[in-house]
Amino acid sequence: MTTPQSPLMQTYARLPVAFVRGEGAYLWDQEGRRYLDGLSGIAVNTLGHAHPKLVEALSRQAATLIHTSNLYEVPLQTALAQRLVDLSGMTNVFFCNSGLEANEAALKLARKHGYNKGLSNSKVIVFEGAFHGRSIATLSATANAKVHKGFSPLVEGFVRLRINEIEPVAQALASDSSITAIFLESIQGEGGIQPAHLDFIRDLRRLCDAHDVLLMLDEVQCGIGRTGKWFAHQWAGIKPDVMPLAKGLGSGVPIGAVVAHGKAASLFEPGNHGTTFGGNPLAMQAGLTTLQVLEDEGLLKNAHDRGEQIMSMLSSQLAGLPGVCEVRGKGLMIGVELEAPCAALVAKALAAGLLINVTAERVVRILPPLTLSADQADEIGRQVGALIKAHLQGAH
Ligand SMILES: *Cc1c(COP(=O)(O)O)cnc(C)c1O
Repeated sequence: MTTPQSPLMQTYARLPVAFVRGEGAYLWDQEGRRYLDGLSGIAVNTLGHAHPKLVEALSRQAATLIHTSNLYEVPLQTALAQRLVDLSGMTNVFFCNSGLEANEAALKLARKHGYNKGLSNSKVIVFEGAFHGRSIATLSATANAKVHKGFSPLVEGFVRLRINEIEPVAQALASDSSITAIFLESIQGEGGIQPAHLDFIRDLRRLCDAHDVLLMLDEVQCGIGRTGKWFAHQWAGIKPDVMPLAKGLGSGVPIGAVVAHGKAASLFEPGNHGTTFGGNPLAMQAGLTTLQVLEDEGLLKNAHDRGEQIMSMLSSQLAGLPGVCEVRGKGLMIGVELEAPCAALVAKALAAGLLINVTAERVVRILPPLTLSADQADEIGRQVGALIKAHLQGAH
């Protein structure tokens, strides 16, 4: 536990529970109490807990080879890169270990694109509500003042605009030729499950083409089948130039990837970028197995259907209720926006045996494993609806 005497740094206000075991969509704590996992480790445990296929593949891989380094060929990297290329229609992949690392690589691609255009002061358009990570560059790209506080000077070269408003983006591109990339989440996660509208994404694609600017879509949270398509931008029918991935790709094993297309795919030359751990055989096996099971078990369709089920249950229970703004989401990436801050709901849900989360202060966030059954979806829909109703009645 993180008490004041804890040897851990005080980076998280943790809930007073420790899980010791998981199976499917359930976790058990030290007292043997069972919880339904409606968060999957923040969109990480794509296949739920202890999926037999993943356990088997990782056990076999651990007993064979965990790490060699990028000084040598790593055939499993090529295999996973090929899968990501086939699923995305993009062309080349760099592997790393986390979301912020994938985003750092994307930001370096944007700088290199500017360098090749003869710019020494290139800029990237980012958006209100964005979350891109906690390194100095990715926190600078992030829109949250709380994330910035205490860490200035921030990295320069970001122009921040409002999401889903195309005119200011068009104006910025027309008036500032030092802009080399537009960087956004296809669906904002930490920002409160806020989708970039499909028309907005298509308009950005058109503007990027017209101005030789990279479209970089952060799919660290919304990618890997969660919305019902392999990648959330595929709902808009476009292709980005750069796509960082991480969270759900390894079903719990740390992994990150940046997928690139066209000009962006050949910007890095030998010596431009690297990583010690990235792309190790264990992580690659986790990624390959995750994608294989998603396909074999029809989990994209399941994510879509279970998401519709939960959202329609929540809408019918909560629609028109004072204090509720909106139920929104895509597939198993669901938010219920309330009028007032509602962080207390997390502990109330935990006491009721359900794991959920609140983000952007007043958005209840639901990110279950993609293996969720219809009964489990029903349970989440009923419980979250009842918890929000009771919370709002208590608050009045
Ligand atoms: C979680 C997240 C990140 C950061 O990923 P880490 O693995 O925590 O570094 C970046 N972008 C988005 C959209 C995220 O949800």
